[in-house]
Amino acid sequence: MVQPARRLERIPPYLFAELDRLQAEAAARGVDVISLGIGDPDQPTPPHIVEALQKAAADPANHPYPSYAGSRRFRQAVARWFEGRFGVRLDPEGEVLALIGSKEGLAHVIWAYVDPGDVVLVPDPGYPVYKAHTLLAGGEPYVLPLREERGWLPDLEQVPPDVARRAKLLFLNYPNNPTGAVATLEFYRQVVEFARTYDLLVIQDAAYTEVGEPGYRAPSILQAEGARDVALEFHSLSKPFNMTGWRIGFAVGQAGLLRPLATLKTNTDSGQFTAIQEAAVVALEQTPPTWFQRLAQLYEARKELVLRTLHEVGIAATRPRATFYIWARVPERFPSDGDFAAFLLREAGVVVSPGSAYGDHGAGYFRVSLTVPDARLAEAMDRLRRVLA
Ligand SMILES: *Cc1c(COP(=O)(O)O)cnc(C)c1O
Repeated sequence: MVQPARRLERIPPYLFAELDRLQAEAAARGVDVISLGIGDPDQPTPPHIVEALQKAAADPANHPYPSYAGSRRFRQAVARWFEGRFGVRLDPEGEVLALIGSKEGLAHVIWAYVDPGDVVLVPDPGYPVYKAHTLLAGGEPYVLPLREERGWLPDLEQVPPDVARRAKLLFLNYPNNPTGAVATLEFYRQVVEFARTYDLLVIQDAAYTEVGEPGYRAPSILQAEGARDVALEFHSLSKPFNMTGWRIGFAVGQAGLLRPLATLKTNTDSGQFTAIQEAAVVALEQTPPTWFQRLAQLYEARKELVLRTLHEVGIAATRPRATFYIWARVPERFPSDGDFAAFLLREAGVVVSPGSAYGDHGAGYFRVSLTVPDARLAEAMDRLRRVLA
């Protein structure tokens, strides 16, 4: 049999594939499994967005190959939204690039910038894509440990200068998956200084800027002075609009920095269906503020329930200001976060993500996702109380 490329051996098994397998095994044994493992909204996409897709899909003008960079209407809507939200002006010609979900862009930007042997600074714990594609591209991931005592922000002064000089990219992700931590504009200013000093490109994964507690507004790194010269930001419609299945996001930043990614994509994909981009325009421009308030309140109520339950069983967790995740410490009587997750699946039929699935520095923690219907979450919390009491 033909062997797959050796580069595939460099990546660890995809975290959620492994969780899916354990869960399928339990389900096959007849266990009613409740998964708090995957960050995928349980709520439907708002009807005005679905209707916009239905209308756009029926229009033959949207049926040919889409524009590589994204439709002009989409790029203009993104630029208007970005200026309204962050006060940062973008030129829709060149400073906005449509993505087939932000994950696609985060993976491809590595291929656009990283040659074999180049260093990429990756947060740990972190979204697995940054490290996986660095390894696939032959780059060298250098781990930036995120620690609780620093608010889960990397300590850039700890990066040895010779490593920083060899680094091409620095990945950030705030609001953060899996920790729920947020970054300030002051932190981004320090990042810009660091990037200037070592001539590297910052990739800020902004998938959760619009998913926060009521009243919280996450900044964009592009609001920091000088950031345009050293940073690209990746946004997604998936989490704020319950559109994970639609596959639409965008990258923004200086045209010269975005162009290598655009070139790579032009030679890889042919863009996202124009009708989906049309629906995304409606999402960005016609979603009323009340919809976001309701979404924030929904996650807030669930957050309350989970934090209360964890507190009752003696598990330490801080209240996240953004994202729909709770990042909590594994009780000390369990040898590891993997053992703890296996225990909960076996004894309670509840799936949580073991922290070390996000990197070595996630060891000793676990992540609970708040994206399950209220009644199921309540049932999961009852089970946790029962098996952990
Ligand atoms: C969900 C998620 C994404 C991917 O979003 P898509 O736009 O659906 O590809 C990217 N980064 C982080 C940290 C995420 O949690």
